[in-house]
Amino acid sequence: MNLNLNYSDYNLFREARFQLVDQLRRRGIKDERILSAMNKIPRELFVDPAFINQAYEDIALPIDCNQTISQPYTVAFMTQCLNLKESSKVLEIGTGSGYQATVLYLMGMNVYTIERIYELYLKSKKLFEKLGVQVVSKWGDGTLGWKEYAPFDGIIVTAAAPRVPEPLLEQLSIGGRLVIPVGDRSYQAMFIITKVGDNQFRQEEEHYFKFVPLIGEKGWNNEEKFS
Ligand code: SAM
Repeated sequence: MNLNLNYSDYNLFREARFQLVDQLRRRGIKDERILSAMNKIPRELFVDPAFINQAYEDIALPIDCNQTISQPYTVAFMTQCLNLKESSKVLEIGTGSGYQATVLYLMGMNVYTIERIYELYLKSKKLFEKLGVQVVSKWGDGTLGWKEYAPFDGIIVTAAAPRVPEPLLEQLSIGGRLVIPVGDRSYQAMFIITKVGDNQFRQEEEHYFKFVPLIGEKGWNNEEKFS
């Protein structure tokens, strides 16, 4: 799987991209499918143009509407936690810039992604079209999942939840995993929840992260309550 890119788009930050991927490998990202996908994506196309020169630093960066593109390590770590086989069906909540969805697409997954902010939904959709990224995206409240396409082999939530939304647990296939940051506004623990049977789950918690809020019916009610 490759992106529709012209040669100069791809080569502009080639060395920086390679260095970033190598750094992720040294930090413990072992799944070469993730590293190879990230090595193909010009992250500078997904960030606010004012931050292009920082596109290959391992940091979260601003995108439109006061949101962020996640830190590359976080993207790689969460993707690794999903532990997906090729051609799995995966749902992302929080499309944002579209970078995480593009990683999953380049890994050969069937990707569904939901964004609650209309401008970001539209902008990411245009970028997907430009790059030839074939994902199914919609504007809506991802805390309710996407019943029409359920069950999913993996669900990744890229915003901070106050608790685990039940619809997401219901919409996992048996053996499927939900990766979601849960906590308060300061920090969230990464929950990795595996559905081991009907209504049976096994939960692990990984170290702490900091995300923008998951706002919706089964998330934070509004931004003010989060801050
Ligand atoms: N995955 C994104 C990327 O690769 O750029 C980064 C996502 S950003 C950290 C979190 C996103 O979640 C924001 O764009 C925000 O608008 C979105 N979001 C928050 N609550 C949501 C909800 N209930 N449903 C869908 N998206 C939501």
